[in-house]
Amino acid sequence: MSDYDVQAMARKQLEHAAGYLDLDEGLIEVLGRPKRALVVNFPVVMDSGEVVCFEGYRVQHNQSRGPTKGGIRYHPDVDLGETTALAMWMTWKCAVVNIPYGGAKGGVKCNVKELSNRELEKLTRRFTSEISSIIGERSDIPAPDVGTSAKVMSWIMDTYSMQAGYTVPGVVTGKPIELGGSEGRVEATGRGVIVCTEEACHNNNMNLEGSKVVVQGFGNVGSVAARLAEQKGAKVIAISDTSGAIFNANGLPIQDLYDKYSGVDGGIQNYKECDNISNAELLALDCDILIPAAIQAQITDKNADAVKAKIVVEGANGPTTLEADKILHDKGVLVVPDILANAGGVVCSYFEWVQDLQNFFWEEDQVNERLSRIMRHSYGAVAHTMREHQTDMRTAAMIIGVKRVAEATVMRGIFP
Ligand code: NAD
Repeated sequence: MSDYDVQAMARKQLEHAAGYLDLDEGLIEVLGRPKRALVVNFPVVMDSGEVVCFEGYRVQHNQSRGPTKGGIRYHPDVDLGETTALAMWMTWKCAVVNIPYGGAKGGVKCNVKELSNRELEKLTRRFTSEISSIIGERSDIPAPDVGTSAKVMSWIMDTYSMQAGYTVPGVVTGKPIELGGSEGRVEATGRGVIVCTEEACHNNNMNLEGSKVVVQGFGNVGSVAARLAEQKGAKVIAISDTSGAIFNANGLPIQDLYDKYSGVDGGIQNYKECDNISNAELLALDCDILIPAAIQAQITDKNADAVKAKIVVEGANGPTTLEADKILHDKGVLVVPDILANAGGVVCSYFEWVQDLQNFFWEEDQVNERLSRIMRHSYGAVAHTMREHQTDMRTAAMIIGVKRVAEATVMRGIFP
């Protein structure tokens, strides 16, 4: 389990937003709990012949606005509390960008670095089989998250389809294009992060072009955000992964680093024209924009005061703790919250799902254009609510998200 209680954090964020909405206590109770949580334990025969038992989870938080949607995470720290918090954030996120989904999340407690490709496939297929009773293209649609990929989504789709007896591409998103994936999906989260960064700069008399940007995490979200920031003329001065961070005050050649060093042994640490620093030092670098795009609870009450960025754009889910949020707000740092900033992934997943259901596929320009439009519109709505309530941006996004879900829940009523 991660050190920080992210479930308690998610619950407090809900209560804080509910305070602006005059919600009934009973309704807050409904919104604060997952609708359904499944814990599965399952064996996998490893390459050595040894049988190892893994624990996995699928949590569906709220279905009032549509089927549930959310990633599957493979990481040693995955647990039920974290998965529940992430499912809850997915509900608000889908509502903030106004797509017709509720939130879900899943995961398996494992270390993918220790698994062979064959073991990863067996683990994925068995886990899919274990949760297949509650996922489905009309009920709950998984997607990639930390430690999972398009390849893992293909195995989930194939396993589910084997059981259904026909191909069900709409059961997962983030698939390869050849299997019904969407153009633009791989880049969508990072692209959305950069659209939000541009909007934040624009609203605060800054310009992304020429700004100093720091990105924590160089995986799907971080590497795309860093590359797009570079393309827009920003100077990306530091990036990191689990092995540590690299820093060059004159800027790093991001596209080159991505092409030559990511995915190879030693990763970005092989690059020499830089200083090697720790992830903790990276967060405290002198910069204009900080994009945490690794894992949760990275900016805490212990290090928030050291953050020098003017704008923090949350690529990761839950990278800033509640206490850190307050410290940053008091310091005048604008935090563009995860449920807005990284919603580009789920927006494009929604596009993928729509395309799969219709068997009609869009061109990349169309995907990117529609994605940018939704992200800009959502940013504008959150910024407006922030000004209206004189509050921080996370609270504003939560007010919009919780309000939409609460309204749908009340409109549908309570069965029976
Ligand atoms: P990923 O596995 O592709 O990349 C994660 C990156 O973070 C890697 O570079 C890894 O080395 C680094 N990392 C992991 N632990 C770290 C640590 N303790 N310190 C520093 N770096 C560390 O994952 P991703 O898909 O890029 O997701 C990153 C974050 O974005 C997660 O919080 C995820 O929930 C969130 N997110 C992802 C998507 C998506 O579409 N992939 C969508 C929304 C939100």
